[in-house]
Amino acid sequence: MEGNTGTELQPYACRYNDEQACMEALIAMKWPNGFVCPRCAHTRCSRLTSRHIPLFECGKCKHQTSALVGTIFEGTHLPLLKWFEALDLFLLEGGISAMRLSKVIQVTYKTAWLMLHKIRHSVGEFDARELLCGDVKVNSDLYGRNPSRFQVSHPYASAVVAGCTVTESGEPEQVKIRLVPHKRGDGKRANRHELAAFINGHVDVRTSAVESFPLAYRLYTPLRKVVREAWESLKSTYVALGLKHLQAYLNEYTVRRSLRRPGAKETMRQKLLRMCVAIPAIPYRRLIARQPNRPLAAAA
Ligand SMILES: [Zn+2]
Repeated sequence: MEGNTGTELQPYACRYNDEQACMEALIAMKWPNGFVCPRCAHTRCSRLTSRHIPLFECGKCKHQTSALVGTIFEGTHLPLLKWFEALDLFLLEGGISAMRLSKVIQVTYKTAWLMLHKIRHSVGEFDARELLCGDVKVNSDLYGRNPSRFQVSHPYASAVVAGCTVTESGEPEQVKIRLVPHKRGDGKRANRHELAAFINGHVDVRTSAVESFPLAYRLYTPLRKVVREAWESLKSTYVALGLKHLQAYLNEYTVRRSLRRPGAKETMRQKLLRMCVAIPAIPYRRLIARQPNRPLAAAA
């Protein structure tokens, strides 16, 4: 498979080799401690297997539901195997473009584009629920610009606020990069109010020691490096990124970076699947109606 060459990832198909196995994995992820009725919280149910998608009927209120309801897979016409393969490819170090995904899993470009955006939306929303907590550094930075002080401002550079927790050795751990609704390329950085808004929205201030770096020439260097890496990575996978979906791509980068960090109990696949099961799919109309200069809900 073209997209998996030279990586440590094995395709999902190795372990989930049919629809049934994918469905069982979703059911186990949705109800890890057994069925819970979404309407009345009753825990007994009967499983109706006469349908293409297994339905669960609550033993008390008779409400019928499936493991796909409220997930990014709800209403999909695609085999779950293709979704699982797309999730695997999304986890590649540089991600995967819609063009390449469409070829690897043999769907149309539009379908691949939409799948990737649904995954991006889920990971972004999931990540937004988790506040930075602990020793936190916050930079007022520019995305899309070489941080070398001798370079003039890049016409596509966008003001961002980047925040991270750091390890004992000062390395960025959990990272968030949020676009600030400034005009692209004007060279201006987030001001103190915008830094404060980021901290209020994304940092657990009660339990954290926050240090912010508003000055261009005195940014927290390890965090500045991550913003630079995000730019390098995104521009090498995606030919050109408009401002409209840029926040979603930044979320993709930072979440993947955190999923790929070693030492977690869950595998990165399990974590990604958990995010996709926890967050409902973004409808196509809402996706294309995004306003370029307005941060996503996840970024608010
Ligand atoms: Zn019920």
